Amino acid sequence: MAAMAAAVDREAARLTDLDSAIGDADHGSNLQRGFAAVAAALDKEPPATPGAVLALAGRQLISTVGGASGPLYGTLLRRTGKALGEDSEVTPGRLAAALGAGVDAVAQLGGAKAGDKTMLDALIPAVRALGESSFGAARSAADEGAVATVPMQARKGRASYLGERSIGHQDPGATSSALLIGTLADTAE
Ligand code: ADP
Ligand code: MG
Ligand code: MG
Repeated sequence: MAAMAAAVDREAARLTDLDSAIGDADHGSNLQRGFAAVAAALDKEPPATPGAVLALAGRQLISTVGGASGPLYGTLLRRTGKALGEDSEVTPGRLAAALGAGVDAVAQLGGAKAGDKTMLDALIPAVRALGESSFGAARSAADEGAVATVPMQARKGRASYLGERSIGHQDPGATSSALLIGTLADTAE
């Protein structure tokens, strides 16, 4: 989570730039505020298990990020943490299964599916690649998934208000998802 907070800080301007093209130019600052709160909460009271770390991080994102991405990423982390349970050791296979539950919860909360030009277009292929292969494969799948949102028309979130004018721009949330998955892979490898 600390590495993710640092990565979000590093890439905040780029994420906000992408959101200025098809949204309201706050995705980078939303995530910066959220992950800064996550890092501070974890520093203050470090949870005992990975599942509890994710649950606390998810709660922080939900309570500090005003935009759509706060509840969505918050739900992803909380649900993933819940699926991990109390175990102190997490294998890649268990993490892939837990992340799968988290991604399903994001789809349910936001009503989006693959191809709607959202964070799910990076998350769904990444989780599949992690389950079938490796962290490195998950990173590549997330990166490819984010790039693949460029020709898509947005069907959920603010960008969908633009209709066909959302075509030709990379989705900010898919881009931040690829950043977070890439950071997870860097940290885990
Ligand atoms: P807001 O749009 O409220 O300003 P952000 O800019 O932080 O929130 O986040 C925008 C991103 O959230 C989008 O690029 C998209 O990936 C994601 N998003 C928006 N709505 C949904 C949804 N219903 N399901 C999944 N992801 C969504
Ligand atoms: Mg926005
Ligand atoms: Mg906003």
